[in-house]
Amino acid sequence: MIMAKNVSFLDSVNRYFDAAAPHTGLDEGLLKQIKVCNGVYQIHFPVMVDGKVQVIEAYRAQHSNHRSPTKGGIRYSNHVNQDEVVALATLMSYKCAIVDVPFGGAKGGVKINPWEYSEADLEKITRRYTTELIRHKFIGPAIDVPAPDYGTGSREMAWIYDTYRAFYPDDINAAGCVTGKPVNQNGVRGRTEATGRGVFYGIREACNNKELMDKLGLEMGIEGKTMVIQGLGNVGSYTATISQDEGEVKIVGVSEVEGAIYNADGIDIHALLRHRAHHGSILSYPDARIYGKDKRRAVMEFECDILVPAALENQIDANNAANVRAKIIAEAANGPVTADGAAILAERGVVVIPDIYLNAGGVTVSYFEWLKNLSHMRFGRLEKRFDERAYRRIVDQIEATTGKVISDRDRELIVRGGPLHT
Ligand code: NAD
Repeated sequence: MIMAKNVSFLDSVNRYFDAAAPHTGLDEGLLKQIKVCNGVYQIHFPVMVDGKVQVIEAYRAQHSNHRSPTKGGIRYSNHVNQDEVVALATLMSYKCAIVDVPFGGAKGGVKINPWEYSEADLEKITRRYTTELIRHKFIGPAIDVPAPDYGTGSREMAWIYDTYRAFYPDDINAAGCVTGKPVNQNGVRGRTEATGRGVFYGIREACNNKELMDKLGLEMGIEGKTMVIQGLGNVGSYTATISQDEGEVKIVGVSEVEGAIYNADGIDIHALLRHRAHHGSILSYPDARIYGKDKRRAVMEFECDILVPAALENQIDANNAANVRAKIIAEAANGPVTADGAAILAERGVVVIPDIYLNAGGVTVSYFEWLKNLSHMRFGRLEKRFDERAYRRIVDQIEATTGKVISDRDRELIVRGGPLHT
């Protein structure tokens, strides 16, 4: 078989841009400015691990400062490189524009395998990385606001916030320097599952589109559809559990770093997550066909209605796109389908729901977290104030149209949502 040439992640993202750009009618110079990455900061810093100095390579890319602050996750992975962070920052700019949250796109990366480090070492690395970002003004509630991504979560965000606060104890907005924080540390409820929940909503909407389902030869509605998931991390596990619980989807295949499993009769995702937490692997899960580590990519070719790549980029390319058997590919990860792969899938009539729309739930809820941090008010209070203002307007309207005067006592009761005494 002739293997297709490997295209870099950034080249692939830019090819999508080049295909869409002529449809905007924008000036060529402006399009060039939208496409380029405004700035990348590359750092090397030493950290003492097991009595030895390790030099860690890390990045922060700010793709667009057109809107500020810039926003985007921080990834911990052995594969981190400049091309990858720039590609991911670029996708963030387009994603923020699509859901209309007023941020520019950014992304950070630390080139480590987080699963090989102790918690204490990860804390050291995270705090040192944050210090470097502070030193070069690549973080701040008005400058650049990181969030979780592959290999990081609320724990790392709490360390980032704490480090930032130590440098700026007089900054009342310090909590807005990072999102995805634990709820008890100025985070918001719902952020952890936001990306996976958004992915579920996006798939559900696609399945409710009659024209699309007719074209694919599928029944309307998400219920009863079969789904395959690659990656059981934050995004993959929430997409899978919510799809099974709220969408009555049948999960038939799953892959993780150790390999893949398939069972056409269905895999209970809660039982599988418990099994992996207990045994450290999905491969010993009962009654499933097993694919070892070297065959885990077979997951892309499993028979199903909906394939959800939720791990990393470049998973479906010119080499395997022709073998994909799913009818819908839901891009939960960033960039899992390359531009070459997408062209082959389009020819074959496979529908791809794009990442910049489908996984935008995370940044949307992050926006609310940032707003909450800057307003210094709990959402319950904000909502109460909004309701009171709306009720006051209703009472004014009733008085104006009926010509009757509502007593101050009743007015207060209505506005505060209490029982009305007449
Ligand atoms: P995560 O670290 O929580 O989970 C990733 C999982 O994928 C891990 O369990 C890992 O073991 C697994 N994995 C790695 N390589 C694999 C392989 N080759 N085959 C199968 N499984 C593999 O990361 P996450 O936060 O869930 O992010 C996943 C993807 O979603 C990334 O592309 C990220 O950029 C994107 N994303 C994340 C968020 C977010 O809020 N966390 C938001 C938008 C997009």
